[in-house]
Amino acid sequence: MSGTAAQGPRLRPTLDGIPTYKPGKPAGADAYKLSSNENPYPPLPGVLEAAVTAAGSFNRYPDMAVTGLTEELSRRFGVPVEHIATGCGSVGVAQSLILAAAGPGDEVIFAWRSFEAYPIITQVAGATPVPVPLTDGEAHDLDAMLAAITERTRLIFVCNPNNPTGAVIHRAELERFLDAVPAEVLVVVDEAYIEFIRDAEVPNGLDLYRDRPNVCVLRTFSKAYGLAGLRVGFAVAHEPVATALRKTAVPFGVSQLAQDAAVASLRAEDALLERVESLVAERARVLAGLREQGWTVVDSQANFVWLRLGERTVDFAAACAAAGVVVRPFPGEGVRVSIGETAGNDIFLAAAEAFRKEF
Ligand SMILES: *Cc1c(COP(=O)(O)O)cnc(C)c1O
Repeated sequence: MSGTAAQGPRLRPTLDGIPTYKPGKPAGADAYKLSSNENPYPPLPGVLEAAVTAAGSFNRYPDMAVTGLTEELSRRFGVPVEHIATGCGSVGVAQSLILAAAGPGDEVIFAWRSFEAYPIITQVAGATPVPVPLTDGEAHDLDAMLAAITERTRLIFVCNPNNPTGAVIHRAELERFLDAVPAEVLVVVDEAYIEFIRDAEVPNGLDLYRDRPNVCVLRTFSKAYGLAGLRVGFAVAHEPVATALRKTAVPFGVSQLAQDAAVASLRAEDALLERVESLVAERARVLAGLREQGWTVVDSQANFVWLRLGERTVDFAAACAAAGVVVRPFPGEGVRVSIGETAGNDIFLAAAEAFRKEF
């Protein structure tokens, strides 16, 4: 035996190149956490009760088929139950999608910068990430993404609106893209922030998937619905893809708490969407405030705004932290700031103004 105990077990070399997921910094006791795009409001009463009731039987495994939630989603969105696959957050579903479609030697295309999980889950599956730079307007460069398709492409992520820039893709543009992608390549339209969109030109992925067997829509309960801590998301796709997802998913990956709270959330949608509406109003206020201060910011259709700060990114994030708001820096690129409670947004605006005056 040439291996020694000191070397430890041999792990897959592909892991060496994988950036570890950096979660939003936990905010200190008196700081506002504007770093993870969470819903700042506490759970709605009915939703909390549903979770508490479900907690009474957590000695049992959850319903593996996620029957109640799947049926509720089917009714709510007018899609067959066979087209729905749930998972441990939509990141869990995205990982199952890659495991279903791509392995070593295969390529996964996504815009960059986009959601940090895309390159990680691609490499965990042993596939090759193909990041395609954003346009100067911080949006997906769909022509460049088309040009990046090769015989090895198995999956393309389209994040609409894009995390972390908030930029959107309009209907005509996305349809043209989907029509040009080869039918054997799976296109995953990640709509984690769809409830925050107010631009009527942005398509609903559910209208696009129906005639396109290679399109899969990804949704989550973590953002607008405020269930980030419970981990539940879902995909809507044609049967072969949805069936494959059930095979690659971690068994029992969605707890009964999450299942029941998600059902209760869908039933309390009016109250939830009212909260979303006030976050959308705050987003407009924050964007207007930043522009008044002289910042150049692209429009955002999500629950965050993006400041391209380049070399000043880390200093800006430190200044915000000192002022009492935790934001999300991407060193050398920019800062993503979630829209939170009015008081937190005010502190952020004041910090941004003070920073601008100093530079
Ligand atoms: C937050 C986010 C998700 C959702 O992740 P969950 O695992 O459902 O919490 C998915 N996609 C994007 C682009 C996101 O920003």
